[in-house]
Amino acid sequence: MITLKEALKLSPQELDSLREDLKEKIEEKNEVNAYIDVNVVAEGVPIAIKDNIQVKGWSVTSGSNILHGYIAPYSATVIERLLEAGCSPFGRTNMDEFAMGSTTESSCYGKTLNPHNHDCVPGGSSGGSAAAVAAGLAVAALGSDTGGSIRQPAAFCGIVGMKPTYGRVSRYGLGAYASSLDQIGPMTQNVEDAAILYDIISGYDPKDSTSINMDTPKISDRLDPDRKLTIATLPEYIKDASEDVRKAYDKAIGALEAAGHTIVEKELMDAKYDISAYYITATAEATTNLARYDGIRYGNRKEGENLKELFVKTRSEGFGDEVKRRILLGNFVLSSGYYDAYYVKAQKVRHLIKEEYDKLFSEVDLILSPVAPRTAYEFGALADPLEMYLSDIYTISVNLAGLPAISLPVDTADNGMPVGLQLIAKAFDEQTLFDGALSLETQLKS
Ligand code: GLN
Repeated sequence: MITLKEALKLSPQELDSLREDLKEKIEEKNEVNAYIDVNVVAEGVPIAIKDNIQVKGWSVTSGSNILHGYIAPYSATVIERLLEAGCSPFGRTNMDEFAMGSTTESSCYGKTLNPHNHDCVPGGSSGGSAAAVAAGLAVAALGSDTGGSIRQPAAFCGIVGMKPTYGRVSRYGLGAYASSLDQIGPMTQNVEDAAILYDIISGYDPKDSTSINMDTPKISDRLDPDRKLTIATLPEYIKDASEDVRKAYDKAIGALEAAGHTIVEKELMDAKYDISAYYITATAEATTNLARYDGIRYGNRKEGENLKELFVKTRSEGFGDEVKRRILLGNFVLSSGYYDAYYVKAQKVRHLIKEEYDKLFSEVDLILSPVAPRTAYEFGALADPLEMYLSDIYTISVNLAGLPAISLPVDTADNGMPVGLQLIAKAFDEQTLFDGALSLETQLKS
C-alpha cells in the first residue's frame, strides 16, 4: 500500500483510482470486517476513521446498538484538520463498544479478524483501524487511546500507533469514554507517516477546554533519527511478559545500542496499582459520559409506558454486557459510601504514577516498554473481564500520566504474530518520541 507521505503527492485523478482500488480490496477481504461501512468524502487522501469520531452527515455509533440511527451533526476537529491538509475521511472502522475492550469482540457489528491470523483478535478497542492498515485496506487511520486502544491493536497487527500527550489533539467530536484519558492518534504503516498524521491533527482547539494552548511545531519536517538519546529499560517491570515479548525487548535494546543510544536500567512501581487506578477512574468517567444515552436525544429509542420505562428499556437493550458492567462499576466507585475509599484513592495513585514518571524523565529521554504481555490472543481467550483488564498493564499508566507514546513493530514471534513495543516520552516531547522511534525503526531494518 502506498504510504501517506507518497499519497499526499497524488493528483485528484490518482486519488480517485486509489479510492476505487481500496474499495475493491475491502470487498475482497470482506471477512476481516475492518470497516463498518465505506462512506467517502472525495477530496483528499483517504484516511480510515474509528467509529467514535464524528464526520458530519455520517452515521457514528461507537460500535453500539444504542447509537443506531444517529447521524453526526458536525465534524470532529480532527476531521476538519484532515480536510484542510488534503486528506479526507474514508470509511468507519470497527471498535469495541464505546472503546471499552482490548479485542474488538464487543462491537455490535461483530468481531474484526487479525489479518496475520484469522483465529486471533486484532486487539482493541481500535481493532478495525489497525486491521485496515495491516491488511492494506487503508493508507492510514485514526484511532483513540484511553488506556492503550491505539498502541495495543497496532502491536497486535504489526503497524505503528501513536498516542499523543493529553491535550495535544482536540477531543471535540470524539465520543467520550473517559475524558481525562482519551486522546485521538494516528495508526500508520511507518513512523514517518505517524509523524505526518500527528502534525495534521494536533494543535490548540478552543472548542476543547482541555486542549493545550501552546506551540505545536511540525515534527515531520524535522525528524532526526541520528540524535543520541538516553533510553530507560525496565528489567523488573517486564519480567511477567511472555518469552516472545522479552525476546523482542532484547532485540530492541540491541538495535538502540547499535544506533548509538545510551541504555540505562530503571524501574517503575508495580504495575498492578495502575490497573486498579485506571479501572476506577475510567469507569467513573464513563458512567458520567454515558448517562446522556437515554433514548431522548441520541439514536435508538425503545418506547415504554412512561419515561422511566423508556430509559430503562433503551439502556437495557441498547448497551452490551461490557458497557453495562462498567456503568455498574463506575456508579459503585462514585457512590457516597465508597467515593473516598475508591475514587479518591485512585486519584492519589494516579498522582504517584505521574510523579514516578516525572522523576524518571529527569534522568532519561525515553522509556522502552512492552505494549502487551503477549502477542494477539485467540478469539475468546479474554472472555473473563478481569483477565482482560489485567492485559492492559503496560499501556494504561501512560494515559494516567498524560504522556505521549508510540508502538512500533519490533519482531515476529515463533507463532508468526507481530510483536510491537512502545517508546514513552515526557509530556509534550513528541519530537524526541518520533526521533527515537524513527531511529529504532531504521536500525531494525538495516
Ligand atoms: N482496554 C482498555 C479498556 O478497556 C483501554 C481501552 C481504550 O484505550 N479505549 O478500557
